[in-house]
Amino acid sequence: MSTWLEAFTQVEALETAELDGALVAQMQASAGGTQMGRVNFYTPTFKAYATTEISGCGKSAWPAVSITGAECKLQCDHCKAKILEPMIPARTPDELWRVVNEQVGAGAQGMLLTGGSNHRNEVEYDAYYGTIRRIKDQFPQFRIALHTALVSHDIARRMEDSGIDAAMMDVIGAQETITQVYHLKRTVDDFERSLEYLVASRMRVVPHIVLGLHYGRFLGEDNALEIVARHLPTALVLVVVMPFYAPQKRPFVTPDSHEVGRFFLRARQALPGLPILLGCARPPGRAKQEIDSYAVMAGLNGLAHPADGVVELAARLMRDVRVTPACCSIAVGDEVMALDTDQSGLQVDVARIMAMERRRATGRLAGISVVTENAGGCH
Ligand code: SF4
Repeated sequence: MSTWLEAFTQVEALETAELDGALVAQMQASAGGTQMGRVNFYTPTFKAYATTEISGCGKSAWPAVSITGAECKLQCDHCKAKILEPMIPARTPDELWRVVNEQVGAGAQGMLLTGGSNHRNEVEYDAYYGTIRRIKDQFPQFRIALHTALVSHDIARRMEDSGIDAAMMDVIGAQETITQVYHLKRTVDDFERSLEYLVASRMRVVPHIVLGLHYGRFLGEDNALEIVARHLPTALVLVVVMPFYAPQKRPFVTPDSHEVGRFFLRARQALPGLPILLGCARPPGRAKQEIDSYAVMAGLNGLAHPADGVVELAARLMRDVRVTPACCSIAVGDEVMALDTDQSGLQVDVARIMAMERRRATGRLAGISVVTENAGGCH
């Protein structure tokens, strides 16, 4: 059998990317020659995928809704609340009810519900729980993923009682990052306790670890991984920091893709049975090609918006390739909700995707099995 590095070099669309050969060999050894299993790519329609238009769907099946509009008290250095700007505002419970009715009418399957934080990294949902309960009673199939931020035991219970399907929070493992990047007087323990309270509920819990969160450098990621391993949530989402809005005084460097790859392998080894997904956020261009290639080789279970050539790479590594037509909201959410979307949606024409990949390839894709899935779709 050829080495994974050889397989990688055969993918024409990835020819500008450069991987660390020793790390690739380590990943191959870690897989131990066994079939690594299924990898799910979450992409918009074939057309958007084929033309690498990441903008994807105009009408998202999973819209992102913010209860504070674009306002956030924290103004973290990597974000400055910019992530909230394109979301649909619902600043009152009545507005949320109206927005959800509109979205359900337009065919949405669920939403990511979030909002800006107060100075304690809490999103103040208190006034909304009754409306969320009403939404779930009226539209039981409409699923709600909630960005929880930090929670008390009591708040976690209220979220659960309101019918939230999935709870998502960032886990930060370094006090310096909490203090300096988030401007926050909370502790690493507060993050761990929040995760513990959420995991104790019936909600699906999907923590996120943002790689390179300390101004583009790794600092608390391994500690965050240990925290996640202690509380075993439903799945883990990894994203790579996208510091487009960092102030000039506190610039971020682009995280090193090889270091990201090494973390992927450590995460896979630390959490062998847990679905680990690579969310939408990561640096573009060559870094994305490298990061996505490592994600497939490390054995991550899902990738949102893969770089061109990565589907082919997964196929060449004999992974069971599936493509789910899911849009990525500006905030991660779709791929988490899509974890169990076995119903409805548009069928992705995998044969066309693979024909496109094959045209780019220097070799042939003989013998590669690709399974398509009728899963949660976009338009
Ligand atoms: S990361 Fe969250 S808490 Fe920080 S500024 Fe952005 S929206 Fe606010």
